[in-house]
Amino acid sequence: MLTKVILQANIDHLEKWIQRADKIVIVSHVSPDGDAIGSSLGLYHYLDFLGKNVNVIVPNAFPDFLRWMPGAKDILRYDKYKEFADELIAAADVLFCLDFNSLKRIDKLADAVAASPARKALIDHHPYPESFCKITISHPEIASTSELIFRLICRMGAFEDMSKECAECIYTGMMTDTGGFTYNSNNREIYFIISELLSKGIDKDAIYRNVYNTYSESRLRLMGFVLYSKMIVYPEFNAALITLTDEEQKRFNYVKGDSEGFVNIPLSIKNVRFSVFLREDKDSEMIKISLRSIGDFPCNKVAAEFFGGGGHLNASGGEFYGPMEEAVELFKRALVKYQEELIKK
Ligand code: 5GP
Ligand code: MN
Repeated sequence: MLTKVILQANIDHLEKWIQRADKIVIVSHVSPDGDAIGSSLGLYHYLDFLGKNVNVIVPNAFPDFLRWMPGAKDILRYDKYKEFADELIAAADVLFCLDFNSLKRIDKLADAVAASPARKALIDHHPYPESFCKITISHPEIASTSELIFRLICRMGAFEDMSKECAECIYTGMMTDTGGFTYNSNNREIYFIISELLSKGIDKDAIYRNVYNTYSESRLRLMGFVLYSKMIVYPEFNAALITLTDEEQKRFNYVKGDSEGFVNIPLSIKNVRFSVFLREDKDSEMIKISLRSIGDFPCNKVAAEFFGGGGHLNASGGEFYGPMEEAVELFKRALVKYQEELIKK
């Protein structure tokens, strides 16, 4: 049995909305990850089963390793189909906002979502949600939005109606937001949910291979290069930094998703509890920052204070507009400011 995490009043409210709705739109955050796509498609499959007219819209491309997911080919990219997406959003009866806590996180989609007269519901696990939805289901203590979607479907009494495809998507999001159940994954109910998902016939080993073992040769060579030549360890701060320039990405035929997970690798060094990855992103003319930490070191605080970002305690991100050297300087300033917290036993 699962703890009743989501408030009963929110479940009742949403159930009514869904019953009355015909057109439903699901949106998720920019550069969607496994949980963004997993939670969106999980909910999509359930609402599709109910006979609703459902569309999933994301701001831009998602990585190739999520393309196998059932329903992925029907996801609408806002950067490609803006007009059609604008029409769907404006005409929606209900709009679900999944896996983000602020309109800023959906980039150019924000205006259309804010302006839509649809009933809006936020389902998310990032701290400090902004209030742009009538219903806000926000649970930072839950490891993934996909897990919240599982809990929602169950609480609406519809576990029996959950398809294998729905279960595959939910499992993918739960797996990717916990690094294959290696962090943020001590809640034993996660394993009860996995057991329930397995009862739907999912092949969790195949899902793992689809997501983590389908990389290109060049991505592995890039990883080798980065670890050998680009990783700097700061033992006096228990921290590490990796930088990756646009030129280096080109040298290794970089495609979106190729540096996924790099930021976690330095955390496997003894005593390193804070890791930062800076990548030049020529398309958006900025440096994309990924931060990870172990234990109670709040990398989301550093992301907010130094890189205009945010996220979870142990996994956060941000952006920097300027040259790489300045971003590195900022990182070093953050180390000095947080040295005490970084080195405390
Ligand atoms: P990643 O490093 O995988 O891109 O992001 C890790 C987490 O950090 C995401 O799940 C998201 O919660 C958060 N995050 C990433 N980029 C940003 C950003 O630019 N702004 C904010 N507020 N959060 C971010
Ligand atoms: Mn998530």
